[in-house]
Amino acid sequence: MKKYPMTVQGTVTPESLGITYAHEHLLVKPQLQDAKYAAYTLDNLEATTAEVQSFKAEGGQTIVEMTPLHYGRNIKGYLAISERTGVNVIACTGYHKKLFMPPWFANESNQTLYEILLNDVRNGMDGTAVLPGVIKAGTSLNHIEPEEYRAIEAVANVHLETGIPISTHCDRGTMGIEQVHAFIALGVDPKHVLLGHIDSSLDIDYACRLCDLGVNILIDHVGRELDTHDAFRAEMIAALLARGYGKQVFLSGDMGKKDYLPAYGGTPGFQYILTDLKKALLEKISQSDFDQITVQNPRRFFSGK
Ligand SMILES: [Zn+2]
Repeated sequence: MKKYPMTVQGTVTPESLGITYAHEHLLVKPQLQDAKYAAYTLDNLEATTAEVQSFKAEGGQTIVEMTPLHYGRNIKGYLAISERTGVNVIACTGYHKKLFMPPWFANESNQTLYEILLNDVRNGMDGTAVLPGVIKAGTSLNHIEPEEYRAIEAVANVHLETGIPISTHCDRGTMGIEQVHAFIALGVDPKHVLLGHIDSSLDIDYACRLCDLGVNILIDHVGRELDTHDAFRAEMIAALLARGYGKQVFLSGDMGKKDYLPAYGGTPGFQYILTDLKKALLEKISQSDFDQITVQNPRRFFSGK
């Protein structure tokens, strides 16, 4: 079994992860023709490096890059950014929701879908020796496509074989309960699963119900509502902590779009969570709570524990 945490530069000690954004995109190019995905394309190594430097300047130490197969990941670019900045980058394999699945997906057997991911985890991604430190599955808005169930099965089996932690795309926060039930049915302990975009549901009780199932959840759409300082998200985090779910909550910005990154002409950028948002959060939660969701929880989870 590979040793986790696994970064693009190899295994590191859990302690060296430090402040971790659990779901971001550094270099990404969605493989669809639709013009709207031009905004989701980040392809400037210098610009992204500047963003990562701004994160490091505020104390950030690790970024989890959640671009899976066929969403235009750039493994050599992640390695270059990590080497230039000294920031740990954890890269990902896996499949996105149906809209972004590779064109060959439907024609492959379950065994082949599994072997493609296992090969990434064992031997390296996209012709490099770089290994992923997390594996992704995704589902559509308000339903799960048959292909998405097949992807969940492949991801679950690679996790069971290798110990690699699982991080998911819940479209606008939906289908979290169904994802957890699917993973549990396949033999996965939900403590090794991190559900993405749960704040997008705008439903605190739903987030609590997910935590009751033993899974981890991501608040990762901060930075869109700057005029209210992300008031709802801050309230959601405070409520989850008050109800005793502090060990299952993670924080990130999922800023995989030019509009969110100053180096590409957008706002607020990678430093936002550690500056303005942190300031707003510390009116509701303690510094040790903030450390819990940005340091301790990612350290445990990405170590495979
Ligand atoms: Zn994302």
